[in-house]
Amino acid sequence: MATPANGVEAEVVLFESLAALRAAPDDSLRGKITYVGHAMKRTQDGSSYGHFVRLRSAGAVEAGRRGAIATLIRSIGTDSHRMPHTGNMSYSSDVTPIPIAALSNPDADQLERMAQRGQRISIKLTLTPSYTGVVESGNVVAELPGSDLADELVIIGGHLDSWDLGTNAIDDGAGVAITMEVLRRIKEAGLKPRRTIRLVLWGSEEVGLLGGYAYADKHKDTLRNHVIGTESDFGAGRIWKITRNINEQAKPVADKIAELVEPLGIAPGSNSARSSGPDLSPMNAQGFPGFRFVQDGSDYFDLHHTPDDTLDKIDPAAMDQNVAAYLVFVWMAANSNVSDWGWPAEQ
Ligand SMILES: [Zn+2]
Repeated sequence: MATPANGVEAEVVLFESLAALRAAPDDSLRGKITYVGHAMKRTQDGSSYGHFVRLRSAGAVEAGRRGAIATLIRSIGTDSHRMPHTGNMSYSSDVTPIPIAALSNPDADQLERMAQRGQRISIKLTLTPSYTGVVESGNVVAELPGSDLADELVIIGGHLDSWDLGTNAIDDGAGVAITMEVLRRIKEAGLKPRRTIRLVLWGSEEVGLLGGYAYADKHKDTLRNHVIGTESDFGAGRIWKITRNINEQAKPVADKIAELVEPLGIAPGSNSARSSGPDLSPMNAQGFPGFRFVQDGSDYFDLHHTPDDTLDKIDPAAMDQNVAAYLVFVWMAANSNVSDWGWPAEQ
């Protein structure tokens, strides 16, 4: 939400983490602006994002609950540019909403240095976001129809929507391009799969996986026809690992896929990863077996949700490697004798 037009001004109270903010007593921040550090560090698989992003989602509620009039957070990102990362945040019906904003890493560092010197810091904050109401979005679906097993689906895709700051080549133009190219190559080769290969370009992922939930709801009676699938939504880096959560029956075909993609530099990973990607997570929650190609995302959170998310960051050779791996996966899954990759037994 926005501040009043002429801003708010107050003393800043600093916390080093979301946990530290949560430990502050109720009402202890009355009239203050809070700042929360909670610095994210670079990882290859981006796995720490899930932990650190909680500050962005919960920061306004936790500070508001304690009486703060606004809150600043250290931007959820790993770059050293002076552009804060945007993203999803939320309010709670039992706490008065307060404005929240992210500070770029260099500016957050500066604020922390001033505090370390024992300086009393007061900030004037003017924020101007507006809520423009609900508009319609949609999933875009394309298929290569199957032959003898046409009712069974192998599903891939990326998400179409993006934050407004960049051109969103990385999040998630890359995923859209990789998975569209897979269908194009199969079609161009004149090949006909046994199972239907369905491409879903998901809508409204960023604001809360709305396309993913709508799809799972619309297809609730035929979810089990979705044999296996995965979403590409972690940029354009090379794939280096496969994670999955499949049954014994599907292991031979999954192992064969792993063997075929090994020359691309891809190693098998764990068999306990439920996820098939954000937009398939509503289906994973209902038992859809997990499968993911894990990309190298070492620089993903330098770019994610910022104006730096542009096409020049993409290496065409890495995109080719992704397409090759997806082609192997999709083609093997669409044509193997395995129709059950691990949906739980029906109740
Ligand atoms: Zn994304």
